[in-house]
Formats: sequence, C-alpha cells, structure tokens
Amino acid sequence: MTNRTLRTVLVLGVLCVLGMVAVQIYWVRLSLDAQERKLDQSMALALQSVADDVAMYYGYKVQPNTVEQVASDFFVVSLNNVVEERVLEHYLLEALKQHHLSLDIQYGIYDCYEEKMKAGAFLKAGSSEPTPMPGTEMAGIEDWKRYVYYFGVRLPARSAYLTGEMAPWVYSSILVLLVVGFFSYTLWVILQQKRLSEVQKDFINTMTHEFMTPITSISLAAEVLERPDTLLQPERHSNYTGLIRQEIKRLRSQVETVLQHARLQRHGANLQPAAIVVDDLGRDIAQHFRPKVEARGGTLTCEVKALGVVIHADPTHLSGVIYNLLDNALKYSLDTPQIHFGIYTEGRRLAIRVTDKGMGIPKNAQKRIFERFYRQPDSSLKNIKGFGLGLNYVFQIVRAHKGTIVVDSEVGQGSTFTVYLPLPKAAPAPAPQLATA
Ligand code: ADP
Repeated sequence: MTNRTLRTVLVLGVLCVLGMVAVQIYWVRLSLDAQERKLDQSMALALQSVADDVAMYYGYKVQPNTVEQVASDFFVVSLNNVVEERVLEHYLLEALKQHHLSLDIQYGIYDCYEEKMKAGAFLKAGSSEPTPMPGTEMAGIEDWKRYVYYFGVRLPARSAYLTGEMAPWVYSSILVLLVVGFFSYTLWVILQQKRLSEVQKDFINTMTHEFMTPITSISLAAEVLERPDTLLQPERHSNYTGLIRQEIKRLRSQVETVLQHARLQRHGANLQPAAIVVDDLGRDIAQHFRPKVEARGGTLTCEVKALGVVIHADPTHLSGVIYNLLDNALKYSLDTPQIHFGIYTEGRRLAIRVTDKGMGIPKNAQKRIFERFYRQPDSSLKNIKGFGLGLNYVFQIVRAHKGTIVVDSEVGQGSTFTVYLPLPKAAPAPAPQLATA
C-alpha cells in the first residue's frame, strides 16, 4: 500500500469514527433532554393532581396551574389554605405511584405565620414510610415568599433517576467507546508496522552500502594483485594482501553484528553467567581498546573503583556491551577523541560509565537510540558507519542482567552512558579503592 493510500484510508477511518462519536453524543444529548422534559412534565402533572386532591379533601376551591418549577430539581405548589403533613404525604405518594415516578423526593410545608418551611419529610421511592428531616435538611427547601400557603418539593436524586432512565444509551455509548478503543489500537499497530517497515528498508540500504564498500576494496585489490608487475614488487604485494585481510575482518565483524542481532531476536540473550572480577575486566578492556583511540590521536582514561568486586554475568556479552559503548564514544567523537571509562560501586549497584566529548545526542533522539535500527539521521550524513543495532544490543543484554542503562548527553558537549548492574546480595560491597590502568 502506498503512503498516500494509507494516509487517505487512515484519515477516512478517523473521520468515520469521529462522525460516529459525534452522532452518539448528539443522540445522547437529545435523549437526555427528552427524558428531562418528560420528568418535569410528569412531576408537574403529579403535583397538580396533589393540589387538586388536597383542595377537594379540605373542600376549598381547586385552582388550575398551581405548580411552578423554580429550579430543575425544585417545584413549588401554591394552595388556598393550610395542609397537614399526613394528608400531603398520602396524596404525594399516591400521585407519584400513579404517574410511575419511582424517585425519592423531599417536601416542605411553608408556614406563613412563622414565615419559614416548617413541616416536611423525605419520601423514599417505593416506601410508604416518610423519613423525618432535621432542620438542616429542611433548610434545603427554600422559602418562596410569593405565596401565602404552599408546599415545596425537591428531587435530590434527579440526576441518578435520569441516569437510570438513560441506561440503554449508557450501554450503547460504552459500545461506541469500545469501538473507538479498538480502532485506536489498530491505528497504532498499523503506524508501528509502517514505521518498522520503513526502518527495515533503511537498514537494508545501509547494510548493502556497508557491505559494498569492503567488497569493492577487495575486488580492486585483487585486480591489482593479478597484475604481473605487482608480483615483482613484494612490498606492494604485501600491502594489498594486508588490505584484503583488513577488509575481510571488517566484513566479518559486520556479518557478526547482523547475526548477533538475529540470534538475540530469535533466542533471547541466552546468558552463560560466570564469576567476573570487575577490576580485571576493566583493565583488560581498557588495554585492548586504548590503541584504537590512540590511533586517532586521542586519549582513553580508565578508573576502576570496585577493587575485589566479583559479579555474576555473561563475560562475552558484558564485554560486548562495554566495547559497543566505547566504539560509539570513539565513532561519534569527530575531533580528537577524549574518552573516560570507569567502573564504580554505587550503593548496591555496579556502575559502568563511558564518557566522551563527542558530538552528543539531541534530547528527542535520546529516547529512541535504544530502538533497533534507529540511527540519528546526522550519523549517516557525517558518514559514520553503523547499522543502528549496537545500543539495542546493549539495552537487551543489560536488561537480561536485570540492570538499567542511562544516557546523559548534550549536543556538542559529549555523552555519558552508564550501565547499572545489581551486585550480588551475599557479598557486601567493599569500600571503594582506586586503581587506574
Ligand atoms: P550505530 O552506531 O550503528 O548507528 P547504535 O545503536 O550504536 O547504532 O547507536 C544509535 C544512534 O545513537 C547512533 O546513530 C548515534 O546517532 C547515537 N549515538 C550512540 N552513541 C553515541 C555517542 N557516544 N555520541 C553520540 N551519538 C551516539
């Protein structure tokens, strides 16, 4: 699928889902309004019938439109005379039942002599027993001084009642949310796959390019060696065979990197742990690596402050991790390389630190450098060789050892990579001692 088609399909998909969500919101809103209107009307009718019944009971004149809704959850019903609590409660419960309104209400009867809500109770849906309300709750039913005789009704559970009535819409909204969730997940998977396929395409390009360089050098050297005059010049002959050997070594190391990555993907780290004397490991690596740095006119300093510490780790992989970090420190130091390599005990952890004063890594790239195949675009521009697999290997091996890796870097200033490995519990960490190689 071309990029354009994929983008069009994704945009259409997103628009469809957004449309579906908008329609759902619209219908839920509409249905909620209708439910609210229905409740208000039923309440008004029920209360009007209560006013009529009370008027008939006391034998005074029935008035039309005595019900006024003064707030969404508060109704006021004016009367021609006083009303007793038990009479009002009886008719209220009757009216609610008749109008199929199964919701809790609070009522209060206004006393025009004392000019405040006096009597009142809490009527629970489905119960014929009123619960008396203390003064504080009565205060919730406001005075409505416009009338002389009236009672007020508050619906404290109005929202809960409406939510109950909206149950089918709640279920359909949950369904829509699930669809949106699945769609977003699918979208994420598609984009991840697309990114991976692009990264793999880049990797194949880089790999072909990297393999082509030594192959070209080897074939050119072979051509020169075939010439009869070269055979008569032993020094030249040996230079070219040396070049071929060097390029073959380079090819082998590149093939090994790719194979190592494939092995890691297929079988995991497959560690073969052994006891490693950290001090020896630090010295050996520094000694092996120093000539490479010095060949570029640079310096490698080494500091081991973990004298006598022994850890259980895979020696080949642990050396691989450190060599990868040192290789990167050298590769990404464009000027004279200045590299510091240190091993320290920090609390219950062993810290292996590689610091360079090279080109540094921008903050946004620091999050991605441990992804496989990730190469900072800058690296390719500056013609620095690599497959973008080194730090991913480091990350996987460190994780397999239950450790962590931290990067601290500033563009133009340099980078510090620190690998933290847990120290064995049984052996207490010795007091740090200084040893330099
Ligand atoms: P590679 O070096 O083969 O490109 P890595 O996985 O080792 O792959 O590194 C990924 C990216 O991280 C590199 O492309 C580079 O941009 C960046 N990087 C790694 N180490 C350093 C370093 N010491 N200094 C600057 N950039 C680095």
